[in-house]
Amino acid sequence: AKDQGRNNFQFFTSAMNQATVERLQLERDLKTALEEQQFELHYQPQLSAVDCGITGFEALVRWRHPNMGLVPPAKFIQIAEESGLIQPLGEWVLNESCRQLREWRDLGFPVPNIAVNLSAHQLRLTTLLADITRILETHGLKFSDLELEVTESVAMQDPKSCIGQLQALRIMGVRLSIDDFGTGYSSLSYLNQLPIHSLKLDRSFVRDAETNSNDVTICAATINLAHNLGLSIVAEGVETLFQRDLLIAHKCDVLQGFLFSPPLPAEQVLAFMKNKTIS
Ligand code: C2E
Ligand code: CA
Ligand code: CA
Ligand code: CA
Repeated sequence: AKDQGRNNFQFFTSAMNQATVERLQLERDLKTALEEQQFELHYQPQLSAVDCGITGFEALVRWRHPNMGLVPPAKFIQIAEESGLIQPLGEWVLNESCRQLREWRDLGFPVPNIAVNLSAHQLRLTTLLADITRILETHGLKFSDLELEVTESVAMQDPKSCIGQLQALRIMGVRLSIDDFGTGYSSLSYLNQLPIHSLKLDRSFVRDAETNSNDVTICAATINLAHNLGLSIVAEGVETLFQRDLLIAHKCDVLQGFLFSPPLPAEQVLAFMKNKTIS
């Protein structure tokens, strides 16, 4: 308390710098987090808008930090990208997701596929195809059991090499979807060039459709766009019955959001599946 008069002490403890301190701490601790098995995956169900059956799960990474508790990906994915740790972390996520899918199937739950988020850095890795092939083989899975979600900005950072890599994945049979669709900068012309299966309508449009008729129009138009391009469409961030009914009325294919379930730790997924059909 006596030190409070000192300017520099106050400066370093101010709320403004709390974020910097936290970031430095996370950056330091991230280096050992993988070895110490501090990451875990939570899984959010994706449901058919037609019959409410489970079409798959999206794997979402969390960091169980020894003294900060459960840290969300928004706080460490970028740090992992900048420090080169995204490569081993991304590989861990892929392997753990596939291992989990194998386990569910072995327990008698015929989960159709598992969706994994891919960062820009991972898509640039020349070892990506070999890594995925090896991981799927290890767990006795087919290429079509895996869905990769990439944001449009990721796919557009280095269009030439990314499209090449995505095409190779597609030829192998991996399913590809564009995440957060509608929030990127790019024009629609690239949609023709990307070898994708589905679009994920961004949460912001779904959220605001409740109060803003322009967003209803955007949701409806995006669903039609996907279908006219021969793609399926997943709505993310579905929180209310109003949103669900609107999306069903406009023929959205798959729904995901807190209305149905938040992302769940693996133990809770089993309980969720026992009450549901799988489509
Ligand atoms: P995303 O891929 O767009 O994932 C959806 C995010 O929305 C998740 O946040 C999820 O928990 C949240 N969400 C789902 N349903 C609802 C809803 O109804 N309402 C609201 N308000 N939110 C909902 P989360 O898990 O914090 O992940 C944030 C982002 O971190 C993800 O956005 C994704 O871009 C990234 N991420 C997560 N896991 C990984 C990973 O393994 N690798 C990479 N590269 N990125 C990841
Ligand atoms: Ca995603
Ligand atoms: Ca998304
Ligand atoms: Ca997002």
